[in-house]
Amino acid sequence: MEFQAFLIKYAEIGIKGKNRGVFEDALLHQMRVHLKHIDGDFRIVKEQGRIYLQTAHYDFEEVVRAMQHVFGITKICPVVQVEDNGFENLAKAVADYVEAVYGPNAEPVPGMELPRSGRGPITFKVETRRPVKTYPMNSMEISAALGEAILDRADYMKVDVHSPMVQINVEIRQGFINIYSAEIPGAGGMPLGTNGKAMLLLSGGIDSPVAGYMISRRGVKLDATYFHAPPYTSERAKEKVVTLAKKVAEYSGPIELHVVNFTDIQLAIYEKCPHDELTIIMRRYMMRIAERIATETGSIGLITGESIGQVASQTMASMAVTNAPCTLPVYRPLIGFDKEDIVTLSKKIGTFETSIEPFEDCCTIFVAKHPVTKPNLHIIEASEKKLLPEIDEMVEKAIREAETIWCGFSSGNHEEE
Ligand code: ATP
Ligand code: MG
Repeated sequence: MEFQAFLIKYAEIGIKGKNRGVFEDALLHQMRVHLKHIDGDFRIVKEQGRIYLQTAHYDFEEVVRAMQHVFGITKICPVVQVEDNGFENLAKAVADYVEAVYGPNAEPVPGMELPRSGRGPITFKVETRRPVKTYPMNSMEISAALGEAILDRADYMKVDVHSPMVQINVEIRQGFINIYSAEIPGAGGMPLGTNGKAMLLLSGGIDSPVAGYMISRRGVKLDATYFHAPPYTSERAKEKVVTLAKKVAEYSGPIELHVVNFTDIQLAIYEKCPHDELTIIMRRYMMRIAERIATETGSIGLITGESIGQVASQTMASMAVTNAPCTLPVYRPLIGFDKEDIVTLSKKIGTFETSIEPFEDCCTIFVAKHPVTKPNLHIIEASEKKLLPEIDEMVEKAIREAETIWCGFSSGNHEEE
């Protein structure tokens, strides 16, 4: 089946009034950014509150995949467009469409779960929209007559106007008519750039890339900070984090990844602080440093991949202590997620395979056998005093010497601007 366009649907919530234009412009911009990476002739048409992507010489799956990376899009509907040259021709085109998409010889449309004939009747209704009022029949008459035309051709179809399995949409436009019924799910969320920028604490694990995705999905741009501890952590571990940042960037747009050398700080903590407090103190220094880089580079929040109770450093009590040095809000989008849910999401967004590569991240080197699970803020603060005054200069140096790696996404020969 040849589709000449895609109807791009987006959520209406929160985009009423003045914000609507901003929202739509951001959405169109992101669509263009993603389309630049794939071959084909594309034209985006915005009219009467709808967005159409006109397509020619394109690969269906590539376009769908690209659009599934644009936050704000809820549904991607492949559309067959026919000329408006009389009702007889329209009726034939609609019956052809039904046969091609639902009939006994229908080819599966990638990305779409569609009812198929041969497994009982497929119930349907026809819904006609007629923004062009000059058409000689009204919407009700068109729907009824098209329903007849479908039934005449396809004995596996059955009308059900109340809860049909499929709704065949017919839109009479100026000079042409759109026919569509299938909806491919989009990523949802809000278009990028409608909500500021945040700093993701990105490790090589499963959770933090997903956390970045979740926040970015709400329209937030991302930068990231990664703490490594050479030679305790390898160059491969760092490359893995760069790969993860690029994968997240396929959704979030380019990420500036700040790679902070954490070795001296970690060794100092290891030397001077009680070992059951290592992780918590280390995490507090990560938060402090990430926050400093965030404020210097225009991020207005921090993001971590923490989830309540997942490990000792993620109990409520631990997170209260980890959170204490921060003045920026810390977003923890996975806070109520079970590991299983996080893994499912990580597979869906394509970061899982990289996350499970076996390279040490710096947290696993200096871990205590019995870390505190109910740390007390005053006790932790007292332990941190033992690091003074040298620690302050170590923090300054770590920030000063942090390496910045630009992580845009690349597909084929295209590099994003
Ligand atoms: P992840 O799978 O994201 O690594 P985790 O379950 O291993 O998470 P922790 O290692 O306790 O959990 O880390 C909690 C959060 O702290 C991470 O989700 C991440 O946001 C941040 N973090 C941990 N280690 C690092 C690191 N080396 N660099 C940057 N951020 C880190
Ligand atoms: Mg980790």
